[in-house]
Amino acid sequence: MNRRVLLGSAGFAALAAPMIMTRAAVAQAATPAKADRAVLPDSHGFKLGSFEVVVVKDGAMPSGAPGETFGTDQSPETVGELLDRNFLPKDRFVNSFSPVLVNTGSDVVLFDTGLGEGARAKGGGRLVEGLVAAGYKPEDVSIVVLTHMHGDHIGGLMEGGKPAFPNARYVTGRTEYDFWVDPARVGTPAENGHKGVLANVQPLAEKTTFVEGGASVVTGITAEAAFGHSPGHMIYRLESEGRQLLLAADTANHFVLSLQRPDWEVKFDMDKAAAAATRKRVFDMVATDRLAFLGYHMPFPAVGYVEKLDTGYRFVPKAYQFDI
Ligand SMILES: [Zn+2]
Repeated sequence: MNRRVLLGSAGFAALAAPMIMTRAAVAQAATPAKADRAVLPDSHGFKLGSFEVVVVKDGAMPSGAPGETFGTDQSPETVGELLDRNFLPKDRFVNSFSPVLVNTGSDVVLFDTGLGEGARAKGGGRLVEGLVAAGYKPEDVSIVVLTHMHGDHIGGLMEGGKPAFPNARYVTGRTEYDFWVDPARVGTPAENGHKGVLANVQPLAEKTTFVEGGASVVTGITAEAAFGHSPGHMIYRLESEGRQLLLAADTANHFVLSLQRPDWEVKFDMDKAAAAATRKRVFDMVATDRLAFLGYHMPFPAVGYVEKLDTGYRFVPKAYQFDI
């Protein structure tokens, strides 16, 4: 029964009060839903040829001053001036974490696993929630690829002491794994990372294929070495029906500071000179080949292009390129 019929049969005066109450009730119900929207899991899907790509926001957390992580070999004024010129605050930044699922039609491949259950109280570890929102269950994942073994990439491998993706096999770089499992890491700055790999990655070693640059994960997904951020950091090139996307992982981790000034030192780059050289090599290729790339810590949904500048590169977020 529509409103016109109601008005016609009962008259406006009789309906006016209940209608106002109804509107108020609707408004009241709508307010918490709007507030809740901020905590709904974020996922963003698009097509790459015949592949379906789903980027999930595992978390996005405010951090301290960006200059404490990026440009640590520069003066605060120099870093601040570049932030200011790019409309960004100097005292805080948001670090986001974007694992990616790629459905090739024959495999469901997940790249990195987010921060995991240990970060849930702080708003991270939302990968599975985001996958479910996009229509995938953890059981659907057939391959988990680890780009490298920092905690924000391997944290979601286990859930309650069990593999979070129970039907998956695993693919990761040989160099990266060998570095982190080595007992020589005990007593060094890498000791915590070593413990994390023993807890989350080593139990899965029997189901893991260890690869080097040039290896094919499945048809259309190829590994490339991009060492520096971590000793065996790998990136992955996706290709389907002539469309390409480079999963650049942590090659560059701030869309302004790391891309516009690829030489600047970054706290989390374990070999700072190698990381800077890799950054320039990879993003020169991304710019020259006009490749789309996805950076794990770029602003969600973390996909874009780069334009070469005199120094470094300008991040150009994706728009509708994959929708047409
Ligand atoms: Zn990372």
